This record gives sequence, structure tokens and C-alpha cells, in this order.
Amino acid sequence: MTDLTRISAAELSGLLADGSVSSVEATRVHLERIAAVDGDVHAFLHVAAETALATAADVDRRRAAGDRLGPLAGVPVAIKDVLVTADMPTTAGSKILEGWMPPYDATVVRKLRESDLVPLGKTNMDEFAMGSSTEHSAYGPTHNPWDLERIPGGSGGGSAAAVAAFEAPLALGSDTGGSIRQPAAVTGSVGFKPTYGGVSRYGAIAMASSLDQVGPVARTVMDTALLHDVIAGHDQMDATSLATDWPSMAAAATAGLADGALKGVRVGVIQELAGNADGFQAGVKQRFDETLALLSAAGAEVIGVSCPNFEYSIAAYYLIHPAEASSNLARFDSVRFGLRENPADGPITSERVMSATRGAGFGPEVKRRIILGTYALSAGYYDAYYGSAQKVRTLIQRDFQAAFEKVDVLVSPSAPTTAFKIGEKIDDLLAMYINDITTIPANLAGVPGLGLPMGLAPEDGLPTGLQLMAPAMQDARLYTLGAAIEQLLEASWGHTLISQAPELRTGNTRSAEGNN
Ligand code: GLN
Repeated sequence: MTDLTRISAAELSGLLADGSVSSVEATRVHLERIAAVDGDVHAFLHVAAETALATAADVDRRRAAGDRLGPLAGVPVAIKDVLVTADMPTTAGSKILEGWMPPYDATVVRKLRESDLVPLGKTNMDEFAMGSSTEHSAYGPTHNPWDLERIPGGSGGGSAAAVAAFEAPLALGSDTGGSIRQPAAVTGSVGFKPTYGGVSRYGAIAMASSLDQVGPVARTVMDTALLHDVIAGHDQMDATSLATDWPSMAAAATAGLADGALKGVRVGVIQELAGNADGFQAGVKQRFDETLALLSAAGAEVIGVSCPNFEYSIAAYYLIHPAEASSNLARFDSVRFGLRENPADGPITSERVMSATRGAGFGPEVKRRIILGTYALSAGYYDAYYGSAQKVRTLIQRDFQAAFEKVDVLVSPSAPTTAFKIGEKIDDLLAMYINDITTIPANLAGVPGLGLPMGLAPEDGLPTGLQLMAPAMQDARLYTLGAAIEQLLEASWGHTLISQAPELRTGNTRSAEGNN
């Protein structure tokens, strides 16, 4: 019998549509998988077993009655805990929101429900999406299914680990500086950061509003495209949402499977991120070079391009991001949401309650960034720091513009190294921040980025990732080329990357319902 947790969402949809599998069955096997492995992986902060089964039963009933259902109807999905959900607690990985029940659904969550997907639960993340390892979650780290002692990337390590551990075929993530693409790289999964404004941010707890973007996570490019089609589109509740009619990303991915899809495509290799720089692991560089050779052999024109200002992207990001985060996180003031803590002694004033609450509710990384951002925005320093960073942002956007005059797509590794050990970099801020060296430029420029598996690094047998970037609004192009490259790489390996993931120990180590 087919193991329903191992197949793609596209295949599962086919089985659901022709009636050979019910959504209740598909949902149950995923809940059983979560119960069996998530005690070790800890991808989920909350599992909504009963609601998921009830939703699935309802989809089955409507399918039996002949209702017209969407392509992913009845397919289970996991949701990063940065997205508000009316029927599940939402914490953003923070103590300050422990147990908080939002009064509404994020637009992307509403869209999942309207397309009849089955939400399984909420996934773990670095607190307020600040991090690259999920170690900054107030609820403990998520473990990489490839090696439980290693990080699954971050901030969306929970969503990436959930799909890589076969706990869910699909997941939603958010990407402010790489939190979809970097976890995808280190877990052997696929993730997409859409063009800024392509997917609604309404109900995505804001961190750095000019950089945040919600996007899909899956195990194949096609599944990622199918989920993208569900969540994309204009939303009047999000003032930065683009009023664009997006083409079908699934159709774009299908086009990439045709013979010759890579012929004549101009692939730009960003010299500054090509893996020669310090901090790039030899095996990542090796797999990247091999991929470029395959692309040339398939008829693509591989061209070196220089983006000289990318060198400053991390510096600019760590001014713009904390500046926006310090402002966004001001809403956690002990009055409106979640935790309220009284001062240990002395008078109870609103200011002192706010201070005690934020002191107890925020973790160290969040406090660090709020302080950094407040400093960067303060009178007297604003022009020197925030103002300069915005100028660098413009230069990075110009680097992209110049590059896209010469090439159709830009490529780089999606992370400089494979998954590192839990605890290894937690005290070394710069080592942690450098993880996003390849992903941050796309956020600063608002362009789309796709991360997909690029093979296992020879030195440690762990997944590496390839990143593709296209001009703003050209998300579909990335799906076409991504599907073509995925097919090319898998043909060269003779298998899918995820099929090489080690078996996880299955002990009944967590309960199927509730928080963890
Ligand atoms: N790792 C980056 C940070 O800590 C990016 C996080 C993200 O994309 N949410 O800010």
C-alpha cells in the first residue's frame, strides 16, 4: 500500500480526486506520523487533530455530494505560527503570546480554508521570526530530520522540518531575510519567497514590514507552485498587496518539465555569492559548480555577473530590519495581547507593568534587535544608520536591475553551509547572521526567490540548496526553471533528494492533540 505521507501533494490530490483515498485517511496518517516522530523533531507547537479530522470529513462529504473542489482540497497543510488562526493559538514562538487565541484568520489561512486544505497545526519558529536556526523559539528548538542534533534552519525551521519529516506534505512559511529558503536548503525541501506584495501579509505577525513575505514550503517544486496558487493574489486588507492577476504557478512549473525548457536560458551566477567567499562550505560550492555544469549541458547559457553591493546586504538588513521590528513589536505592550506581568516590587504604573511584561515575555534575540532598532532610529543617529542603510538598499536594487538586463535568472547556493549543530552558533551573532548572506538581497529588493535541493554535501551527507531569483513579478519564471532544474538534478542522481533522508525513530513521544 502507498504510504500516503511519502507521496507529493500533487499525487495525493490525484488519489483524493479519483476517490481511492479519503481526506480523513490522508489526514489521519499524517497525524499518526506527527504523533510518532514529533517528540523528536518538534516541528509543531500545536496540533489540531480533532479539528483537522472534522475538516477532512467535511471535504469528503462535499466531494461525495459532487461539489466542485479546488486542486488541493483535502490535502493536509502545516502553518507557521507567525500566521494568526482563529481556531488555534498563535504565539510567533514567543512567551509574550503564549496561549493567545487570535480573533481572526490571516488572509492566507482563510484562503487555505476556502480551497479546502486541512490545517494540521502550527509550526515552530524563532521568536517573532528572528533567527536562522529555530533555537530562538521560546518553546525549544526544532530538530533537523536529517540529523536530530542539527538545526533545521530558521526562522521557519518548523515548517521545513514538518515537510522533510513527512509530517505534512505542505506548509506555509514567511521570509524576511531567508526564513523560507534557508530552512529549505538545510532540510532538503523546497521553499519560495514570492515577489513582495504577491501574497497577503494580513494576519502575518509583522516583524519587518518592508521585507516580510509569506510563501509556500513543500518537497517538490510542483507542490510549492500548487500551494502558491492557493495563497497568491490581491488583498484589500494589505495596503502593500499588488493588484496583479498572477498566472498559474502550477502551469508554469508544468511548462518546465517539457524537453528543452532550459535551452537558451541565460543563467547569471552572482560572483559575490558563488561560493568562493569566506564561510562557504567546500561541499556546497562543489554541488553548486556541478549544477552549473548540468545547466550548461542542458543548453542554458551560464554567465558570471557581478552584484558589487550585495556585500553590504547583511549590514543594511541588520539596520533596516531591527528598525522596523522595534516599531512593530511596540504593540506588545501588556495591554492589548497576551502576557501581563506586574513588577516584582514598587508601584504598579502602566509603564512599569509594560516594562516587566516585555522583560519577561521577550527572549534575548528579540530584546537585542529592539534595542538596536531603537538606537538606529533615534534622533542624531537616524541619518548615519537607518538613512545609510536605505541608500544601500537602493544600490542593491540597482545591482539586480543591471544583472537582469543581462540574464533571465540569477543563481547562488541558498545557504553557505549545511545544517550546523544545535548550540554551535547560538552565542556567535555574526556567525548566525551570515547564514542569510545569499537570501537577504532578494528581500531588500522585493524580488522572488526559490530554494530547491542541490544534492548532499560530500563531507557530511547533508542537504545543500540552490537559490534562483528573478525580477519582481516574474515568480512564474522561477517555477518553470525550478521544475526544469529539479528534473535535471533528480535525473543525474537517479532519485529524489528527500528519499535519501534517514528513517526517524518512531516512538509515541507526543500526544496527538494540543500544545507542546
Ligand atoms: N535569519 C534572518 C533574521 O534573523 C531572517 C529571518 C526571517 O527571514 N524571518 O532576521
